[in-house]
Amino acid sequence: MRITAAVTETAHEPFAVRELELAEPGPDEVLVRIAGTGVCHTDLSARDARLPVPLPAVFGHEGAGVVERVGDGVLGVSPGDPVVLNYATCGSCRPCLRGNGAYCHEFFARNMSGRRPDGSSRLSAGGSVIHDSFFGQSAFASHAVVPARSAIVVDAWPGLPLEVLGPLGCGVQTGAGSVLNVLRCEAGSSIAVFGTGMVGCAAVLAARIAGCTTIIVVGRNPARLARAEALGATHALNLADGEATAAIRSLTGGAGADYSLEATGAPEVLRQAVDCLTPGGTCGLAGVPTPGTEVKLDMFGLLLGRRVVGIVEGEGVPQSFVPALIRLYRQGRLPFDQLITRYPLERINEAIDDMKAGRVTKPVLTLDVPAPAARNTATDREAVAGAGHG
Ligand SMILES: [Zn+2]
Ligand SMILES: [Zn+2]
Repeated sequence: MRITAAVTETAHEPFAVRELELAEPGPDEVLVRIAGTGVCHTDLSARDARLPVPLPAVFGHEGAGVVERVGDGVLGVSPGDPVVLNYATCGSCRPCLRGNGAYCHEFFARNMSGRRPDGSSRLSAGGSVIHDSFFGQSAFASHAVVPARSAIVVDAWPGLPLEVLGPLGCGVQTGAGSVLNVLRCEAGSSIAVFGTGMVGCAAVLAARIAGCTTIIVVGRNPARLARAEALGATHALNLADGEATAAIRSLTGGAGADYSLEATGAPEVLRQAVDCLTPGGTCGLAGVPTPGTEVKLDMFGLLLGRRVVGIVEGEGVPQSFVPALIRLYRQGRLPFDQLITRYPLERINEAIDDMKAGRVTKPVLTLDVPAPAARNTATDREAVAGAGHG
């Protein structure tokens, strides 16, 4: 079928919105009509060749939308279902079987190789391959064919704006999952969050949910720091005023923070995120550096029980965690949508300029989809399902 997508032809160049050909879903795949896709820094890393993804390609890995068709072998996902998309996993390697698909042995092959595991591709233009499967989705597009396991059916209707739910599949689950699934901050503990983007702000919100009583946010943009405070940070430190380690120690009674989270990908920030810990404290590393980036750490400081743990996508099981995040959002405890600015897909380059300049935190590229109310009754859902199989 013909679709519209934002294509990256050459590294560092603006996205080109154009028509492409999308293959029909295979037996274990679903076709999703995209309602909205968040823009994440990892998309820009891939566009700018800091990640080894072949070009030309369609990026976008925070998609949400409505299932239009499903392959013959798909169970549990039906046409008409609202879904949040997620990274692809094999489902059968040891990390997958242990519920930690973020470390799937086939993670790179399934999310960054630009093709299906069997080497075939879903996207083309004039017979030439356009690489797809970015984080299992390539969602800077009007439609995407994704593995059924990457389409998480969510309780979005009635009431939730489906087009902004996509970031739950990357930025929000990374920040919230780091705190709730990995660091597992206990009530009354302290945490220092380095970074004021979606990951950092989601971590602040999750720290409140966990019951942290000292939540220190560290960044460089005064407006973003103020917003992180509005979301629940108890203190804000601006790196423009100097490094944050000493200030974090004094804000934690001289001991240092129980937990810290690095959400910038910068080695000099990771150093501070480790140095600010109390002995026995744990630093989560969620920011994405260029592969090969090295960092200097104080070995004696680490000896005192301090730990550094890398975290991809907040760990956990997205099929369970994303619906949990939606329940928290419904209760008003995870208002991540306050960080979102909507742009039509056609304005993707403007959205990225605004994000890079710090004018917006999380652009979401939106597309017109039929009003969910029209699909909100059993009859309508059956009608949609019937059409899908016809
Ligand atoms: Zn991302
Ligand atoms: Zn696996």
